[in-house]
Amino acid sequence: MPVTIRTKIILGFVASLIFVSVLSMAFGLNIMTLKNKMVVLDQFHGLLDNILEIRRYEKNTILYGYQDKIVVELQDYLHRTQSDITSLSDSISMVAGIDRYNDFKKKFETYKALIGTGKNRLDTAKVAQIRSLGSDMVAFCEGLLVKKRERINRSLEYMVSFSIIAVGGFIFCVAGLFLFEAKSLLKRLKQVTLATKSIPKGQFKTIMEEAPKHDEISQLIAGFNQMVRELDEKQEQLVQSRKLASIGTFTSGIAHEINNPLNNISLTADGLLEGFEDLSGTETREMIHDIITQTSRASGVVKNLLDFSRSDQTVMSRISVSDVISGTLGLVRNQLMVNRIRLTTDIPETLPAIRGNLHNLEQVFINLFSNAMAAMPAGGDISITADVQEDGRIRIRFKDSGQGIAPENLAQIFDPFFTTKSVGRGTGLGLSIVYGIIKKHDGHVAVESDKGQGACFIILLPAVTDDQENVSI
Ligand code: ADP
Repeated sequence: MPVTIRTKIILGFVASLIFVSVLSMAFGLNIMTLKNKMVVLDQFHGLLDNILEIRRYEKNTILYGYQDKIVVELQDYLHRTQSDITSLSDSISMVAGIDRYNDFKKKFETYKALIGTGKNRLDTAKVAQIRSLGSDMVAFCEGLLVKKRERINRSLEYMVSFSIIAVGGFIFCVAGLFLFEAKSLLKRLKQVTLATKSIPKGQFKTIMEEAPKHDEISQLIAGFNQMVRELDEKQEQLVQSRKLASIGTFTSGIAHEINNPLNNISLTADGLLEGFEDLSGTETREMIHDIITQTSRASGVVKNLLDFSRSDQTVMSRISVSDVISGTLGLVRNQLMVNRIRLTTDIPETLPAIRGNLHNLEQVFINLFSNAMAAMPAGGDISITADVQEDGRIRIRFKDSGQGIAPENLAQIFDPFFTTKSVGRGTGLGLSIVYGIIKKHDGHVAVESDKGQGACFIILLPAVTDDQENVSI
């Protein structure tokens, strides 16, 4: 059964209640025992007091002989002491031992017999024996009191140490358990925090729990993973809809790209029809060859368009940067011409391949071209260069000579919905899509710009390794 954090808190609370109850009971028992010991101590005190009283009358009897009043009092104290000794037999035996108790009892009885109810003055020998027995009895009772006090002190010390150890041990265990739980909780929450932080960076990575505990945090992680998967899907849909929107934007250029070869085909076919009789076999073959070339040019543009609009975002394959750029140019070349933009490219043939999705990367450059064209309404220059960095990554620089980006906007241009364009002209999604696609390729995109000095987008992509060919993600 999964143990949720709520269950753990309830269990902890119940365990604490049980512990506090047991501790209180133990404490109560100790106090009762202590109370009994105090009662016995009191009784020992009473016994000593009685013996001291007897000794006072013993002294008077020795000095003044037996007087009636003294005899009555003496008899009374002797009687009280006798019954104390009997009723306290167990307590005295426990403190002093049974032998010493019997010895004490015997001494008392001898003492009682000697001092008894004699009518005559006591002789010297008896007096000496009575005094010796009397002081033995006093010493014995004082010894009892000392021992009893020691026992009570020991009980008190035991109670204090027991409480300290029990409460200390409990606090230690609770603190240890709390720290352990808090540590694992914080570790898992940190995973969520880190994953959450990577979302605005366009990295939709799910959280892998090492050992799922099926508690509230696991539910949170499951919910987070579900959200990430849906965001990823939405991002793919967004890229796809942007691709279709781009086709709309470049329709006239694309139509031109198809129209050109169609016009050429039409002209060549007309020429062929009109001069069919007069043309030599070689000329006819050349014209038919032209028609075939123009047909494949037109079908190439259509194929490019179909490929680009296809939703194949998940296919990553080995591709070259120049393929990406030429695929993009197939869609935007005409628009560049119309906007009087000169394009220079410098992509070395020796540039290592990259692993990626051709059409998504084409979308990246279409967005960069669109923004560059918007930044150069009166025409200008775009240069695309590529090289290999020291760390092995491929660096593509896309530079325009447009109005540039204001320093205060630089930090925000990759944010979704950030736009400086008027309503209806900009959605603020172009660069955030660029960012998302490049991140998906484990790459990095940055911008350098000074207002009025044009903008330069720098894209870093990892070069492909031999074992990464045609892998689907
Ligand atoms: P949109 O083009 O719809 O505004 P983007 O995300 O593509 O959205 O661009 C965001 C903003 O970045 C643009 O509004 C513009 O201010 C700025 N920007 C992007 N590319 C350039 C560029 N090449 N030159 C100048 N500003 C640019």
